[in-house]
Amino acid sequence: MSLTTGQIHEALGLLLEKRAADSHSTVLGAGSDDLESGRRFLHSLVDGGWMVPDWPSEHGGRDADPDEASMISGALVDYEVADLYPYGVGLNLVGPVLLARGSAEQQHRWLRPIADGSEIWCQMFSEPDAGSDLANAGMRAERDGDEWVLNGSKVWTSRGTYSTWGMCVARTDAAQPKHQGLTMFAVDMSSPGIEVRPLEQMNGDRHFTEVFVTDVRVADTNRLGELGDGWGITVETLAHERATIGGRAFGGGDDSEGGLPSWLEAWNAAGHLCDPVARQAAMRAYVLHRVNQLTTLRATHLAHGGSPGPEGSGSKLRSVAAFKARAYLGKNLAGAAGMLVGSPGHLSFMTGPSMSIRGGTDEVQRNIVGERVLGLPREPSVDRDTPYSELKRSR
Ligand SMILES: Cc1cc2nc3c(=O)[nH]c(=O)nc-3n(C[C@H](O)[C@H](O)[C@H](O)COP(=O)(O)OP(=O)(O)OC[C@H]3O[C@@H](n4cnc5c(N)ncnc54)[C@H](O)[C@@H]3O)c2cc1C
Repeated sequence: MSLTTGQIHEALGLLLEKRAADSHSTVLGAGSDDLESGRRFLHSLVDGGWMVPDWPSEHGGRDADPDEASMISGALVDYEVADLYPYGVGLNLVGPVLLARGSAEQQHRWLRPIADGSEIWCQMFSEPDAGSDLANAGMRAERDGDEWVLNGSKVWTSRGTYSTWGMCVARTDAAQPKHQGLTMFAVDMSSPGIEVRPLEQMNGDRHFTEVFVTDVRVADTNRLGELGDGWGITVETLAHERATIGGRAFGGGDDSEGGLPSWLEAWNAAGHLCDPVARQAAMRAYVLHRVNQLTTLRATHLAHGGSPGPEGSGSKLRSVAAFKARAYLGKNLAGAAGMLVGSPGHLSFMTGPSMSIRGGTDEVQRNIVGERVLGLPREPSVDRDTPYSELKRSR
């Protein structure tokens, strides 16, 4: 029988502190890289299965149905939640994919350490020649007995500096067209042959990396899904990523009870909204914020506990628009003081541009919504049926 909201709060109240009125979550962990508080937080919730309620109880969840899981996630907003950005790939992308595609052994090996925060994952998809056109990934995986030998490089790998595992798409058959010869692997990031080089972002993040992979051996038991299923798993993983980015509160405070979000209250309290032009701009940001919330609710409802599908792209677009409107206006309203590093909203401002790129660019999301939601004609493609080995490349 499903729990009531009261029972959920009763249980969470024993484990967590109530969220303070002036509490702000971090901006996607920007500038923080705090691994310890997230690990402690996940550890405290794992026995009750509160963090991933829809996962099976033997893997750190509590077998909740989608409605109960959504009630639990909604209730968690009322408590102090640690910065879970370092754990995001494991909890939001790898976990759901393992549940849908992983073998029983793989689920047993990886899910619980994701849920309790003892193992962190990164996503090794993008390459220098494969970003928006991800199917162009060229990392090679060659079979050698019960193992695969991987060679190539990945780039823009968030969390690469501290991950235990990498979810890595590689080419296992270059004679197939580019979407068909890919396979997904779980790569142990401490393997000989992995070299992780940090790239610092303009918001101060230092976990962002390029990863060089030279003769790295991966056991066939660490292959995720069937041989050649890599593209399908990639698309599924990205749909989860876009829905997750779309669904984030982004430190905006909870206005589910009908109140105003905390950022709007703060602008008002600082006297920024006396000017009618500023008020009008603030209302535009608020409308984008509400549209984002409603679009995300719609996408969640359509997914109903399953894979979010292309609706996640619509949700991501809305959330990026809302995030950037708020971040950029906040900077303007702060006037000259807003130019200082460390001023309120500075981190959001410096993170803003990346929101339109990470998880797939705005243009690519619009293509997905156009083709897969609205049914518009496909973008012309000249290389869809050509074997990967015959494609023209820049290097
Ligand atoms: C903060 C951040 C974190 C990231 N984290 C990760 C990560 O953890 N793992 C990972 O694998 N990747 C990660 N990425 C990479 C990200 O997914 C890619 O940057 C993104 O997919 C775009 O690829 P690209 O940078 O190669 O740009 P390109 O694909 O070269 O695009 C350049 C421009 O061309 C446009 N464009 C390209 N194709 C089309 C088209 N068909 N129609 C219209 N316009 C088009 C794009 O919109 C863009 O404006 C991250 C990126 C950022 C910024």
